Amino acid sequence: MQLNDDIAKRARVAMRKRWWQAGDPLLLSMLHHRNERQDRKILRWGMWAAVLSYMCYGLFDLYLFPDISYQLVAIRFCFSIVFLVSLETVARGMRSLKVLHVVAALSILCGGVGWLVFAMATQYTEPLSEFMVFGTVFVLGANLFFNFRFWLSAVTSAIVTIAFVYALMFKINTDIVQRVVLSAFFINCLALSLYLSWRLSEERYFSFLHSLQAQIQEKVAIEKGQQLEKIAETDPLTGLRNRRAISQDFLNLTRNGLSENEQIGLILIDVDYFKRFNDSLGHHAGDECLIALARLFSQKAEELGAVAGRHGGEEFVILTKVDSQERLRELTEIFCKSVEALAIPHPDRGDDRHFVTISAGATMTRNDGSLELTILLQQADRALYSSKFTGRATYTIYDPAEASRDASGENLAELLKLAITRGLVSVVYQPFIDTRTGKIIGYETLMRLRDFDGSLISPAVFIPVAEQTGAIHMLGRWAIEQACRDIANHGMGDVVSVNVSAMQLKTPGFPLQVTEIIGQFGISPRKLALEVTEGIDIALETQAQKNIEQLRAFGVQVWLDDFGTGFAGLAWLRRFDFDVVKIDRAFLHDCESLRGSSMLQDMVRLLRNRGVHVLVEGVETKQQVDLLKRLGVNTMQGYYLGRPASLADVLAHHSTNQRA
Ligand code: C2E
Ligand code: CA
Ligand code: CA
Repeated sequence: MQLNDDIAKRARVAMRKRWWQAGDPLLLSMLHHRNERQDRKILRWGMWAAVLSYMCYGLFDLYLFPDISYQLVAIRFCFSIVFLVSLETVARGMRSLKVLHVVAALSILCGGVGWLVFAMATQYTEPLSEFMVFGTVFVLGANLFFNFRFWLSAVTSAIVTIAFVYALMFKINTDIVQRVVLSAFFINCLALSLYLSWRLSEERYFSFLHSLQAQIQEKVAIEKGQQLEKIAETDPLTGLRNRRAISQDFLNLTRNGLSENEQIGLILIDVDYFKRFNDSLGHHAGDECLIALARLFSQKAEELGAVAGRHGGEEFVILTKVDSQERLRELTEIFCKSVEALAIPHPDRGDDRHFVTISAGATMTRNDGSLELTILLQQADRALYSSKFTGRATYTIYDPAEASRDASGENLAELLKLAITRGLVSVVYQPFIDTRTGKIIGYETLMRLRDFDGSLISPAVFIPVAEQTGAIHMLGRWAIEQACRDIANHGMGDVVSVNVSAMQLKTPGFPLQVTEIIGQFGISPRKLALEVTEGIDIALETQAQKNIEQLRAFGVQVWLDDFGTGFAGLAWLRRFDFDVVKIDRAFLHDCESLRGSSMLQDMVRLLRNRGVHVLVEGVETKQQVDLLKRLGVNTMQGYYLGRPASLADVLAHHSTNQRA
C-alpha cells in the first residue's frame, strides 16, 4: 500500500466524519481491498454453511406442508445447486469481491422470497404463517453474516422483509393478531439488524483509519530515523561517509564481509600543501577542491568495490578488501594517479609541481591481531608520515618490520624507552579561554618528544608507537606527574587537563595511580582533568568504564576529547556524565558550509541540553570566536587564542592575561 501525503491527509479528514456523512471513497476502497482475501473466505464458507442449513430446513417442509412437501424440497434442492454453482464459478473466476457479494445477496433473495412464492400454494395456511418466522434468518444473514457493504445489506434485507410482511398481511388468511405480531417482529428485526450492520461497517472503517494512521506515523518515524542516520553518517561538506560511518563499515567487514584469504586494506590519503592551497586560493576554492576529490574517490571506490570516507580536514580514508600486499599497492597507486589525472591547479605549492597531489599511507590486516581500526589507522598514519617525509605526492605501504623505526631511521621504540631518563620528553601547555570573559581558565598538557639530534617528533607519530610498545604507560604517568607538579607550584588557572590514551584507561589500577600522584603533590583533585577519547568502543571495555567511574568518584574531572569523531559519542554520553565535552576541531573547520555550521550548532545544542559543559577546540580565526560566542559554547581553545607553549612562556603570559 502506497502511504503518500495525500492518503495521510485524507485519513486525517476522514477521522472527523460525522455519522450521517459517507466515508472517503478512496479509503473505503483501500479498506475493502485490504480485507478482500479474508472476506472472500468468509463469504464462501458462509454460503456453503447457509446452503446446507437451507436444505436441512426442507425437513420442516416435509412435516408441515404435506400437500406440496416434495415440490418445496425439490425447489430448495434446485436453488441450492444454482447458488453453489454460481458462487463457485464467480469465486474461481477470480471476479471481484463485489460481484461475489451480489451473487450471495441474490441467493439470499431467491432462497427466501422464491421459497415463499412456492409455499403460498399450500392448504396448510396456519402452520405456514407460523413457520414464516424463519424468514428473519434471511434478514439477519443479509445484514450481519457476510460483511456486505451497507447498501447491499439494506436493499437485500428490506426486500425480504417487504415480501414476507406483504405475504403475511395480504396473502394468508389466518388470525389477524398473529399476522400483525409477526409482521411487527419482522420489521423490528430488520431495523435492529440494519442498525447493527451500519455500526459494524462504521467501526470497521474507523479501525481501518486508526491502523492507517499508525502505519503512516510509523513510516514517518522510520523515514526520520533514516534521515538522522544518514546525517550522522555523512560528512556535511563532501557527502562522503564520515569517520563514524567508516568505523561501522570496518566492523561490518570484520564481522561478515571477508572470505578466507581476504584481508581489509586501509588507505589514508592527505592532500599535499592543502593549507597553502587554502591560503592562496581561498577557503571556497579549498572546499571545491575537497568536494572534487571526494567525488573522484567515491567513484573510484565504487568501481573497485571499496568505500571512501572523509577522515577529517584534508584527509580521506579508503577501506577495501584485498588478498595481497601487491593488490593493496595497486589500489593505492590507482587513487594517487587518478588525483594527478584530475590536474586541479595548485600554483602556490612551494615545490616544482603545479597541480594538486596526494600523499597516501596504506596498510592491511595481517592475522596478527591488527583487526582493529585504530591500529590500522595508526599504521596507515605512520606510512603516510613517511610519504610526506620523502617529498609528498607518493604513497607508502606500511611495513611491520620497519614499524619500530621512526622516519629519520632511528629506532623510535628505543628512543621512547630512553625518553624520560634522557630528558627528551617535555610538556607544553595550551590555554582554554572562557568564552564569556575572554580569560584563561586553565591549560591542556601536550607532550613533546625530541630526537637525539634535537628535532621534534610529532605526537601523531610517537603516541601510536608508544601505545604499541607499551611505553605510553610510563610516558602517560610522567605527563600526569608533570601537570600535577606545575599545578602545585604555579596554580595554572582553575584546571589543567592531561590526555590519557585508551591503553592507560583500560589498565586496572590506573585510577589508583592518579590519586597517588595527586596525593603526592597535595593538590585538589578537581584541578586535574583527564581527556579521554572515543578511540575505543566503550560498550566492550568494562575496565575502562570502571576506571572512569572511579576517577570521577575520587573527584578528578573526566573530559571527553575529540567528540564526534570516534566510535560512539552518544553511547559514551549516555553512559557517563562528563565534566566537559570537547567537540573535535573538524566540526569547527567545516563551519564554512551551511550544513557544517548547522551541524555544529545541533551538536552544541544537544550537549547543552544535556547540561554538559561544551569546549570547542581548533579555534583559528576571529570569525570562529564570534561564531562560538553566538552558539553559547562555554570554553574555547585554539591557535588563535593561544598556541601550546612552554611552562615559562605560559607563566609570563598568564599573569599579563589575568591582569588585563
Ligand atoms: P588532541 O588531544 O586533540 O590535542 C590537540 C591538538 O591540536 C594538539 O596537537 C594541538 O597542538 C593542536 N591544536 C591546538 N589548537 C589548534 C588549532 O587551532 N588548529 C589546529 N589545526 N590544531 C590545533 P599535538 O600537540 O600535535 O597533539 C596531537 C595529539 O596527540 C593530541 O590531540 C593527543 O591526542 C595526542 N597527545 C598529545 N599529548 C599527549 C599525551 O600526553 N598523552 C596522550 N595519550 N596523547 C597525547
Ligand atoms: Ca586533547
Ligand atoms: Ca582533541
